[in-house]
Amino acid sequence: MDIKALLPQYAKLLVETGCALKPGQPLLLTAPVEAAPFARMVAEAAWAAGAGDVTVEWADQGVSRLRYLHAPMSAFQAVPAWKQALLNGAAQAGAAILTLDGEDPDGMAGIDPARFTAWARASHRDCKPFYEGMDMGRNVWCIAGAATPAWARKVFPGLPEGEAVEQLWGAILSTARADGPDPAGAWRAHSAALQRRIRLLNDKGFDALHYTAANGTDFTVGMNPGHIWAGGGAETVDGDWFFPNMPTEEIFTSPHRDRADGVVHSALPLNYQGGLIEDFWIRFENGAAVDCGAKTGLDRLRSILDTDEGARHLGEVALVPHASPIAQSGILFYSTLYDENAACHLALGKGFPECVAGGLEMDEKGLAEHHVNLSATHVDFMIGTADLSITGVSADGAEVPVFRDGNWAGEFV
Ligand code: ZN
Repeated sequence: MDIKALLPQYAKLLVETGCALKPGQPLLLTAPVEAAPFARMVAEAAWAAGAGDVTVEWADQGVSRLRYLHAPMSAFQAVPAWKQALLNGAAQAGAAILTLDGEDPDGMAGIDPARFTAWARASHRDCKPFYEGMDMGRNVWCIAGAATPAWARKVFPGLPEGEAVEQLWGAILSTARADGPDPAGAWRAHSAALQRRIRLLNDKGFDALHYTAANGTDFTVGMNPGHIWAGGGAETVDGDWFFPNMPTEEIFTSPHRDRADGVVHSALPLNYQGGLIEDFWIRFENGAAVDCGAKTGLDRLRSILDTDEGARHLGEVALVPHASPIAQSGILFYSTLYDENAACHLALGKGFPECVAGGLEMDEKGLAEHHVNLSATHVDFMIGTADLSITGVSADGAEVPVFRDGNWAGEFV
């Protein structure tokens, strides 16, 4: 793969398809300093698309780490006025918000989690127009990967650094469907396929999904009345279609919090708070995890389940075919953007308000009454093996194949 030749078309894809940038619209780009050459290509693509202005907010994880280690706690309790002005001002000016993610997965190891929590709370309070602009569909936004040396070394520990970076770029380009002659066309086709399956799943309105695999998975999860499947692109209030995540493969909903029974076995290791949980299983009864086991990391798995009452229940059911480019790459990226799109997964913890009819207008009590799980945590774990079968069960007991041998089946192909 000729990475050098393909990077400009990846930059164009992120700007024109990911952000759907319109002439005159400003772009706010956040990029790791280690990926500066690629960030400049993105800026160039934005100017070529007629951007009104391009502002780059450089992210330096090394400097960030020093701040988390040494700054007084008060520094994490309020966002400085200049930063509020930058982020809130960009959102209010209708900017497209593009974030390049190239973080070292181990770069923040050992930092007191209370500092992250304080900063996240301050950011959401002081930069409300910025976050609401994205949450409420006023601003287009897109998160995509950019290779950096530290991330590449983690993903390809056996390779010399230069080669690892090259390999990681190759994986980023192929999983983002940016390695062919017409990336924008590939995304139109991909998006149409996702939207067709989402419509079909929403039309079927299954009462339950039954999962089986040779690893011992035999599990039924109940769906909520009025559940909504989502995924792929998103639409702004002005009707602009954009892709919040590139890549994106999953179609997901939130299940009934009290209807899951049987055993699920993991298909991939789970990277949780800097450690791996491998070859694990969880047994559910009436929606709650009642037993679990793991070859390694059992304490970590138990600590997830003990986070709070909701952490024992499911908040997400996501469908990803084994034929998808991320699954086919066989790479563990140590990055949610990629790993979450690698296989069918479930999540312990918080469900999504947008996945039940009227959910965006409900408070926590309303969501609980509609059986959407509540929790402070949301942890995805992968269960999609190459032989996974999923059968949709209607309220009248009729069974419809959804997945066979790890991929979409029947009407869903
Ligand atoms: Zn997911």
